Amino acid sequence: MPIDPTLPYDDDNIFARILRGEIPCQKVYEDDWAFAFEDINPQAKVHTLVIPKGRYVSWDDFSARASDAEIVGFVRAVGEVARRKGLVEPGYRLLANIGAHAGQEVPHLHVHIFGGEPLGPMIWKR
Ligand code: AMP
Repeated sequence: MPIDPTLPYDDDNIFARILRGEIPCQKVYEDDWAFAFEDINPQAKVHTLVIPKGRYVSWDDFSARASDAEIVGFVRAVGEVARRKGLVEPGYRLLANIGAHAGQEVPHLHVHIFGGEPLGPMIWKR
C-alpha cells in the first residue's frame, strides 16, 4: 500500500526500526549520515538500499528540510556504496520512489541502488 509522503514522520516505520537495530538486516555500509543494507526482495542481482540517518519521509521531505551537511553526507554515501559494490564501471541505476504514483511503501527516504546486470528500460511502459 503506497504511503502519503506529506504525512509526518512515523518513528515506528520499518527502516527507522532497522536503524535502531530493532529489526535485523544485511548491513552494507554505515557512516555519520547514512546506512545501507540489502533489499529483502531484490529486483536485480544487486539491490541495495541507502537511507539517511535523519527522520525524513521521502526525497521531497529530505530535499526541503535536510541540512546541507545531511544532504552532502547522504549523497556521498550513496556514491560510496556503489563504488564499494564495484558498480561504477559496469554501471548502475538509482531510484527513489515518492508517494502513490511511484509506489513508495516505506515512509523513510530510501534510494535504491540496482546493478550487477543490464537493467533494461528505464521505466515500465503500458
Ligand atoms: P519502495 O517501494 O520504494 O518504498 O521500496 C521499499 C523497499 O523496501 C522494497 O524494495 C522492499 O523489498 C524493501 N524492504 C521492505 N522491508 C524490508 C526489510 N525489512 N529489509 C530490507 N528491505 C526491505
